[in-house]
Amino acid sequence: MLVEKIPVARRGMLFKCMLCGQLCCSLNPEISEEDLERIKRAYPSFKPYVSPEGKMILIGDNGYCPFLKNGVCIIHEYKPIICQLYPFYPVEKRILNSIMELPEDAEVVKHGSEEYVFLFDEECPGVGSGDPVDFKNLLRRFIEAKPYLKSPL
Ligand code: SF4
Ligand code: SF4
Repeated sequence: MLVEKIPVARRGMLFKCMLCGQLCCSLNPEISEEDLERIKRAYPSFKPYVSPEGKMILIGDNGYCPFLKNGVCIIHEYKPIICQLYPFYPVEKRILNSIMELPEDAEVVKHGSEEYVFLFDEECPGVGSGDPVDFKNLLRRFIEAKPYLKSPL
């Protein structure tokens, strides 16, 4: 079945995080061991919630990330890979090709024999501002972290 519209990042797309803390911080990101080590540099006694499937998740009593204070991430320099990637998320191009027609100017990044495109959250207010996104670098960080995450979305 063809999907009509999924937001796909285009070449030269701009992004600057507005630190609004509105969207990405309510998604309860999964973190890797490496993310945890980095967070512990700032908060040595921090313990994440561990789900029954063994996923380490950032969720506090109010349902939001425990590092969201007054609408701002207080571990911006140490934040997990999923938060660093947001609002972009890489997907193998061949998977998207099977469900939709990709725009001609879609950003495509090669990794080994695979090509990736990037879905993004249109609601994020930082999209369209700031500097061109370094998608190559985003993909590299995602590929490095993927084996340590159970289900990165
Ligand atoms: S990534 Fe987007 S939604 Fe998240 S804090 Fe930055 S601007 Fe807001
Ligand atoms: S670590 Fe920071 S950016 Fe990530 S969900 Fe928590 S408050 Fe938001």
